[in-house]
Amino acid sequence: MASVAVVGAGLTGLAAAWTLERAGLDVVLYEATSRAGGVVRTERADGFLAELGPNSMSAPDVSASAVLGEVGIAGELVAAAPEARRRYVVHHGRVVPLPLSPSSLMASPLLSFTGKLRLMSEPLARRAPGEEETVAAFARRRLGREAGAVAELATTGVFAGDAGRLSARYAFPRLTEMEAQYGSLLRGMRARRRAAAAPRTITAPRSGMGAIPARLAAGISRLQPDAAVTGIRRDGRGWMLELRTAGGRERTQHDALLLAVPAHAYAGITLPDELWSLGALAGIAHAPVAVLALGFRRDDVGHALDGFGVLAPATEGLTLLGVIFSSSLFPGRAPDGHVLLTVLAGGVGQPALADLDADALEARVRDDLARLLDVRGDPVFRRSARWPRAIPQPELGHGRYLALADDAERAVPAVAFAGSWRDGVAVGDALASGIAAARRLRDRLTTSIAPAGAIA
Ligand SMILES: Cc1cc2nc3c(=O)[nH]c(=O)nc-3n(C[C@H](O)[C@H](O)[C@H](O)COP(=O)(O)OP(=O)(O)OC[C@H]3O[C@@H](n4cnc5c(N)ncnc54)[C@H](O)[C@@H]3O)c2cc1C
Repeated sequence: MASVAVVGAGLTGLAAAWTLERAGLDVVLYEATSRAGGVVRTERADGFLAELGPNSMSAPDVSASAVLGEVGIAGELVAAAPEARRRYVVHHGRVVPLPLSPSSLMASPLLSFTGKLRLMSEPLARRAPGEEETVAAFARRRLGREAGAVAELATTGVFAGDAGRLSARYAFPRLTEMEAQYGSLLRGMRARRRAAAAPRTITAPRSGMGAIPARLAAGISRLQPDAAVTGIRRDGRGWMLELRTAGGRERTQHDALLLAVPAHAYAGITLPDELWSLGALAGIAHAPVAVLALGFRRDDVGHALDGFGVLAPATEGLTLLGVIFSSSLFPGRAPDGHVLLTVLAGGVGQPALADLDADALEARVRDDLARLLDVRGDPVFRRSARWPRAIPQPELGHGRYLALADDAERAVPAVAFAGSWRDGVAVGDALASGIAAARRLRDRLTTSIAPAGAIA
């Protein structure tokens, strides 16, 4: 049976290791820290359930849904409350509904009469230029300056990023594909709405997102925590890994290798000549994010919290990037008579905020919460996390990194790469990335080094 090393036990690596093991391979999953899950972090105390990493996921692809079903998570998923479809945005210091469809944009106070006329003429907008565009350039070319600025808010919500630097093609491929297919976003959205059986639902396990890595990890026979891969060498037809473990330095040998570490982690791994070009992945920018989960007495919060949450455009000059109304989304997030708010701060726009200690950040965030959501009184629950390199930024030219991985997988036998820098930053993307890389590796092993019949 061929042995495979999977490196990194975030959602990507867990899904990859799970898939390879089910395919009959002998898998060892190496994780640098003491726990599996990567940025997924659920904490429970005093009747609150706080998510300090991802809060929820939206419609994972077929492969990821199948794996979630097989590990027994599918039955545990709860759909977000229907009001989660309502989102808010800060506009001139006030919290107003964020228009999520072209028709609601037409009725929104966020757009002037001229802005609405320009939006209506979107099907006549200039065609895509030959060169790659930023999200800002794409949104403004298609939707006009005002509606484009509203659409750009997605870069805050998804990437904590800068619309002026992110690549439209790599950050929001569905939108650029829609333009290519329909010649217009309005026409494309109408067509896709007609074709879709149901709106995309947001879900999370009842016991929190931590249940996903926990279930996957439970199904993997050999997960080695506290084992950071520091070096990789070609060893005959396979790979020699150098590890830093609790017991010191170790070496292990495997027939095949699947790297599921974040792009920035490539800086900490000595790569062999065959893979040296992948060292460039460390150049991918990452947004730092601080997460603050705050529980309040319901009576101390004036706002109805009847939605997913609030996004704050950079132009509003606030500390927070956004607030998720966690206890409105899913049951069991706060005890009776209380609410849980999850605040995100930092991002590429205000990276220093993600360095603040929790008390300093809370003091600044509470000013914003008081003004925006009429939050009075002290929190009765608080948990925080700082993620210095939370989210990879697919900026202009991101395609060169993807090409490096494609080329290396083609040229070098028995290796595969996966992760949010390659296949998208959502939870479902990370799972699908690990599964797809595992399948590519399995297929290549079937035709090369694996003993006949070893692979399902
Ligand atoms: C604060 C925050 C909020 C988010 N919110 C959402 C959300 O609501 N919905 C959504 O869909 N997505 C969300 N995301 C994105 C999503 O959670 C991530 O894209 C996804 O979980 C990334 O998984 P991963 O396995 O690729 O990376 P990671 O979770 O970063 O895991 C990588 C793992 O590799 C390990 N590792 C690194 N280097 C080495 C090494 N040398 N040797 C061994 N192991 C190593 C790390 O320790 C880590 O465990 C959020 C992300 C963050 C940070």
